Order: sequence, then structure tokens, then C-alpha cells
Amino acid sequence: MGEIVDIIIIGAGPAGLSAAVNAVTRGKTVRIFSNRENYLSKAERVDNHLGFYHASGKELMDKFKEHAEAMGIKIEEGMAVNILPLGESFMVNINGEISESKKVILSMGISKIKELPGEEKLLGSGVSYCATCDGMLYRGKIAVVWDQSKEAWEEANFLQSIGVNVTFISKKPKHESLSNDIKFIKGTITEIIGENTVEAVNTGNEAIKTDAVFMLRDAVAPAALIDGLELDGNFINVNKHMETNIPGVYAAGDITGKPLQLSKAISEGLIAAQHAALQIDKKENLNGGKY
Ligand SMILES: Cc1cc2nc3c(=O)[nH]c(=O)nc-3n(C[C@H](O)[C@H](O)[C@H](O)COP(=O)(O)OP(=O)(O)OC[C@H]3O[C@@H](n4cnc5c(N)ncnc54)[C@H](O)[C@@H]3O)c2cc1C
Repeated sequence: MGEIVDIIIIGAGPAGLSAAVNAVTRGKTVRIFSNRENYLSKAERVDNHLGFYHASGKELMDKFKEHAEAMGIKIEEGMAVNILPLGESFMVNINGEISESKKVILSMGISKIKELPGEEKLLGSGVSYCATCDGMLYRGKIAVVWDQSKEAWEEANFLQSIGVNVTFISKKPKHESLSNDIKFIKGTITEIIGENTVEAVNTGNEAIKTDAVFMLRDAVAPAALIDGLELDGNFINVNKHMETNIPGVYAAGDITGKPLQLSKAISEGLIAAQHAALQIDKKENLNGGKY
């Protein structure tokens, strides 16, 4: 684990990049993580972002990234799978690597994830979102990997290689690089079964006995990312400073709700970063420069 940074930002879309730029402007250290290209890059034309009439989404995103990079901000590739509040700071788990920060800004964009029945109840008790984080727990045991991302087969191979007995379930045809030792089932999962720990998954046709299920999606539902986060449907509730109900955790952009628009995301990133920076400064002033 590296040094504690002031702010960790999850998601490098317009909201996250705006938060990063504004945090750095206020003299704060940041790390910003993102796991894939954001939605704006898909927009053919954007006509309502002031000063950039008729630009394509990709042109805008390139400009935003250039701006951030010119200020020394490095976008790191990785998916946040879990955030643990520790009182004064946060442990953020990025694909199994832990980083620590004083504040966290969630800017993951709109969440399209529909959790499965049983998923939330059994999270951490057999349900996992990260093979490299939890794989070792299931050495010598049975695990199902549910393919919902481009790299799921790699994680399945990793699990098999460390001694987990893996079954891979996917809607897509078998990936050519999936290890031949892994049992492949074409299909989907409709339910996770178990009282206190995972006992089986239901594919709609059959129940498959397993000790664990790795849900390898491209994103994590906000509720699963951090315990006790207050939501309104799939959106995160915030106040006018973009603070969530968890002290020190902010949210900005599409993830806080409508309008799902670029300028709103950028403004909310700014508000979150400025307020987080102010709170850090206040605390350090009170404690003679120490957080
Ligand atoms: C086709 C299309 C056209 C659009 N046209 C317009 C328009 O004309 N005008 C307008 O104002 N808006 C438009 N929008 C909406 C605009 O793109 C969004 O409002 C804006 O991108 C929201 O920014 P954001 O930073 O909140 O989220 P996003 O841009 O969605 O960025 C979120 C980022 O977080 C990453 N992420 C998610 N989960 C994690 C995780 N667990 N760990 C790490 N990273 C994670 C994602 O991969 C993504 O890169 C359009 C959108 C689309 C799809």
C-alpha cells in the first residue's frame, strides 16, 4: 500500500476529471481510477456544452484528459471493487490492490447493474467481484465464474491456476483462451442460493453446487461498493455539497441522478472536490497541519 493521498476518485468521466482538476487546483493530492471508456465518448455530437458547439463526445473527452494530464493528473486503469471507511480515512480496493485516502469521490456514471437475488445477502460470503482479491480463499474449493466482462476468462484462468475448481458460465461462445481444465456452460445465472454462505447458483435450467461465485462485471453496483450508502433506486443521494450519507464520501455526475448531462457532471465534480479540499484544510488547521 502506498502513501495516503488526499482524495481518491473513482471513475474518470467528466465528473471525475473535473473533480481531479479542482482538487489539484486546491493543492490536494489525488489518485483517479477508471476501468473503461466512458459513455460521452460514444456521443456523435454534443451541442449543449458551453464553448464547444458541435464537438463530438470523443473530442471533448480527449480535451478533458489532456487538461487533466497537463496538470500532472494520471488516470490509472482499474476497477474499484470495495471501499472501507476507517474513521479518519478510507481503504479503497482497486482490483485487489489497496490504496488509502482521506476522502473519496464516487463518479462512476450511471449504474446499469441489476443485482441478482441472493447477491447482496451473500456478498463477502461466497459472492465476490474480484478474483485476484478473493481467489485464495477458495483454493481447493469449487467456484463459478459468471462472465460479464471482456477479461472474465483471464480471471477464471487465474483462479484455476491457483487451485480453484472453476466452472465458467457465459452467454457467449467459449473463449479460445479459456483453460481447457475449466468446465464451460453456455448460459446465465438467475439466482444465488445459500443461507449463510453460497451453496449453489441457479442457471434457470439447473442448480449448480458451488462454494463461491465470482461476478466479473465491468462495474460494481454502488450499494455493493460501500456498505450503508444511501440510494434512491440506482442513484446515490447527496446534499448540496455532493456529500453522501457516509462522512468523507462524495458523489458526482450521472451517478447522483438526472439530468444525465455533461455540464451537470462537470459542475458536481467541482463542488465535490472543493468541499472535500476545504474539509481536509479545516481539519489540518485544527490539528496543527496534521490530518
Ligand atoms: C450516446 C450519448 C450521447 C450523449 N449526448 C450528450 C449531449 O449531447 N449532451 C450532454 O450534456 N450529455 C450527453 N450525454 C451524457 C453524458 O455523456 C453524461 O452525462 C456524462 O458522461 C456523465 O459523466 P460522469 O463522469 O458522471 O460519468 P461517465 O461519463 O459515465 O464516466 C464514468 C466512468 O467511471 C468508470 N467506472 C464505473 N464504475 C467504476 C468502478 N467501479 N471503478 C472504476 N471506474 C469505474 C466508467 O468506466 C466510466 O469511465 C450523452 C451520453 C451518451 C451515451
